[in-house]
Amino acid sequence: MAVFVQKFGGTSVANLERMELVAQRVEERLKEGNEVVVVSSAMAGETDSLIELAKKIEPFPPERELDVLLSTGEQKAIALLSMVLRRRGIKAISLCGWQVPIITDSVFTKAKIKKIGIQKIKNLLSKGYVPVVAGFQGVTEDWQITTLGRGGSDTTAVALASALNAICEIFTDVEGVFTADPRIVKNAKKIEKISYEEMLELSSLGAKVMQIRSVEFGAKYNVKIHVRSTFSKEEGTWIVPEEEIVEKVVVRGITLDRNESRITVVRVPDRPGIAAKIFKALGDAHIVVDMIVQNVSYEGYTDMSFTVSRNEAKKAEEIVRAVAKEIGAKEVIRDDSVAKVSIVGLGMRSSYGTAGKMFEVLAKNNINIMAISTSEIRISCLIEEKYSELALRELHSAFIENGEIEVL
Ligand code: ADP
Ligand code: ASP
Ligand code: MG
Repeated sequence: MAVFVQKFGGTSVANLERMELVAQRVEERLKEGNEVVVVSSAMAGETDSLIELAKKIEPFPPERELDVLLSTGEQKAIALLSMVLRRRGIKAISLCGWQVPIITDSVFTKAKIKKIGIQKIKNLLSKGYVPVVAGFQGVTEDWQITTLGRGGSDTTAVALASALNAICEIFTDVEGVFTADPRIVKNAKKIEKISYEEMLELSSLGAKVMQIRSVEFGAKYNVKIHVRSTFSKEEGTWIVPEEEIVEKVVVRGITLDRNESRITVVRVPDRPGIAAKIFKALGDAHIVVDMIVQNVSYEGYTDMSFTVSRNEAKKAEEIVRAVAKEIGAKEVIRDDSVAKVSIVGLGMRSSYGTAGKMFEVLAKNNINIMAISTSEIRISCLIEEKYSELALRELHSAFIENGEIEVL
């Protein structure tokens, strides 16, 4: 007997018929004699339509109110799902974030979990209940409702699994983590086992199958995570510590991130303290900056480019415009038509020639590289968005379909 936290994404709870399939997955685990905690996302499309509605009032809705609004998506789903489970004779009971409680900091729309009160869930489990917890939402110490950022139900699930010492099953609409987004690359292959570190890179680089914070949580507390499909019984992908990976291939996966924008500050005076000013202002506004490129200085001036997430690009642009004025830069240009392609793999640590091969594949297809960034186990290139799917397929073909399998 074990404890399972089963998380179901939006497509898995999209309608009442799908909720019946979810109920089957829960029932199976219970029949094996396990205890189950369910975490649910909002029904597919619900979070997007709530955001759209709020944006009709104003383009940047007040974030506190946005969180109150968005949390209703998950609240609706857990109530309906609990009713479906109850009709099958399962003692389900829905819990909002504040009822658990899942305590977060007060950064609205992307709050971080600080602690989880686990006693109530433990009591419910011991009485034979199946708690159905709202994903994505929490509460601050002074009772404000918060949300955990897009895809945040994954983090609710992994955090709960960690607190309960449970196995975490992430049920989604694909059969696991693939070598590339299976919706774009038809030949993508399911990965049996992937290390936390590789998954962390894939998540942060656009593979939205797991929210990055959920993987961070998993890695920190060694949570056993199994990503799999709601609609099949096939084994999915296990996310495990590096020691458990036997086959350390050079390139494990390839990602595409179309959610970036490039901001260029043109003709910035090239002197100490200028970069600090720009990036401190962005940091103070909680904006995460990704790739940074500073051109060679010319006559005491330089151009500086960086990328931010596209939904924060307008806000970043406004902030940088104010700083640019202050420091005497010529202008600020925002480009939303960029995309980032990346290759990721543990084997990159000890192999050579990988970057060269990546650039060659892009060059062969006449794709220009605007910026490059690397870590020990990944290489990312910023390119024009219109070439992004081509780049993904070509890189997949070169590194995965026709790449030498290097077992290190
Ligand atoms: P859920 O609603 O279940 O949380 P998401 O839409 O957040 O599901 O994540 C699943 C989607 O992630 C898949 O439908 C797939 O298109 C996308 N995806 C992107 N990259 C990958 C990858 N490498 N492996 C699997 N899925 C991926
Ligand atoms: N409903 C939220 C979203 O769409 C959280 C989640 O599904 O994980 O981002
Ligand atoms: Mg998701």
